[in-house]
Amino acid sequence: MRILIVEDEHGIATFLKQGLEEESFAVDVAEEGKMGLQLALSGEYDLLLLDWMLPGLSGIEICRQFRKEDSETPIIFLTAKDTLDETIFGLQTGANDYIKKPFHFEELLERIKVQLRPKSGDHAIFTLGNITLNTTTHQVFKLNEEVNLTLKEFALLEYLIRNKGTVCRRSRIIESVWDIHFDYNTGVIDVYINALRKKFMLTEEENYIQTVRGVGYIAKEV
Ligand code: CA
Repeated sequence: MRILIVEDEHGIATFLKQGLEEESFAVDVAEEGKMGLQLALSGEYDLLLLDWMLPGLSGIEICRQFRKEDSETPIIFLTAKDTLDETIFGLQTGANDYIKKPFHFEELLERIKVQLRPKSGDHAIFTLGNITLNTTTHQVFKLNEEVNLTLKEFALLEYLIRNKGTVCRRSRIIESVWDIHFDYNTGVIDVYINALRKKFMLTEEENYIQTVRGVGYIAKEV
């Protein structure tokens, strides 16, 4: 899952990025409002964290303009503003939630998870052959045996499984699992793909993660 933080206080932005990456999110930061809106409108994000007071364009204005294009992607405001009127105004503008500074990271994380919780009709449990991935408990099984994955391995597998049957381009994988500043040319995806194949001890009959030469990878049942 990919999150955009629009926050002009460098310390807070860095702290959040690091914390969320440790939770296996891919995170991009914009420290200025106009750039924030431009990135938000790229459609690449599963959730936006918006500061209220920003140079260039306020969080409220970003929210208002973003909502004209996208009514679905959750938005959480991070702000020192905390009067009732302002809270209501923020929510009326289209934000899904609101957290006041200073906040505890754990609380913000839970609020993010609430927003990203699978909606009814969505699935928390995905399967790929005899592999089962549960995005709620963050567990993965092969048959009934739990397989321990690192955060990035989990994120990569989740991305592939969510796109099961579709060829996933390398650039899209990098954007989703890592972030936009990542060096595209490294062989990091291959390293992680190999680690996954090894951890699941995929045999020829269980060739669930296939290489599409020159393009990327595809998760499919064989
Ligand atoms: Ca600010």
